[in-house]
Amino acid sequence: MDVREGFIGSIGDTPLIRLEGPSKATGCDILGKAEFLNPGGSVKDRAAIAIVRDAERRGALKPGGVIVEGTAGNTGIGLALVGNALGYRTVIVMPETQSQEKKDMLRLVGADLRLVPALPYKDPGNYVRYSETLANELAASEPNGAIWANQFDNVANREGHRATTGQEIWRQTDGRVDAFTCAVGTGGTLAGVGMALKEKNPDVRIVLADPMGSALYGHYAHGELKAEGNSITEGIGQGRITRNLEGAPIDGWHRVTDEEALPLLFELLKDEGLCLGGSSGINVAAAMKVARDLGPGHTVVTILCDFGTRYQSKLFNPAFLRQKNLPVPAWLDD
Ligand code: PMP
Repeated sequence: MDVREGFIGSIGDTPLIRLEGPSKATGCDILGKAEFLNPGGSVKDRAAIAIVRDAERRGALKPGGVIVEGTAGNTGIGLALVGNALGYRTVIVMPETQSQEKKDMLRLVGADLRLVPALPYKDPGNYVRYSETLANELAASEPNGAIWANQFDNVANREGHRATTGQEIWRQTDGRVDAFTCAVGTGGTLAGVGMALKEKNPDVRIVLADPMGSALYGHYAHGELKAEGNSITEGIGQGRITRNLEGAPIDGWHRVTDEEALPLLFELLKDEGLCLGGSSGINVAAAMKVARDLGPGHTVVTILCDFGTRYQSKLFNPAFLRQKNLPVPAWLDD
């Protein structure tokens, strides 16, 4: 029998999909790792299980314990589902600006959801900072204790990607991968996959894909953490070098605007049947830039992070897009 063991056993081993339009347009193989097919619907299931298993091994997370995290949503969904499967309660702190769909999903799966105003990292009320405070309080008051998952600075996150996502990409391409690119939230995916591929072949190019509003492009290109503009994408963009990003083997960087990413998302849906979230659009646009840098005949891999339905009220909402002066899918434009 070919059977996976429950939710946990169903995480990972996702298909690598050739993206026909982007491949044709560049003369390269543009391949998307279908992370939206993880059982919690996003790439963050991988970070969730890696962080939980690490905390169990260290003895920090005890049976019946509580997992606390600050998240744009997907890590919270992953942690809540992992928690349900393994018997841990989850308390999730999220900025109120994130999509309604992710909030609904978190409540649906039974997470204790705490919405907070979107504040900068330096403010103690910032969702990440507040989640740490809350975890410390719950560690003292909960009968079985509590842990702070700390996805940004807990390197169990990138180690999970190094041990799984990176190995899978190497195996699925028979080692014929020339470049890998993706955007950064925590940096776990870019650093973990980057490290794994470099260990196999140091010539694989690892490229940062950065949305507007993120400070990382400035850091890698000019040595200055500086953000410009903004983006409607969720879960990506970063203003500091997280511990997961520290020492990541990054060879190149591309900045991608929403105006570049959205038409690609709409084409992937209409022409190829792939309904993807905003960060996947940024990733595919960056993969095409990397392909053009390398020239025809190369293989560029990126991440298809989650489903577009998780952002339907924004990404595929003509009124919202028009209000932001962004492109609207032709078939929804009435
Ligand atoms: N895309 C989406 C939709 C996400 O939720 C995240 C994680 N916040 C990312 C991309 C970025 O992944 P990572 O945290 O591994 O950098």
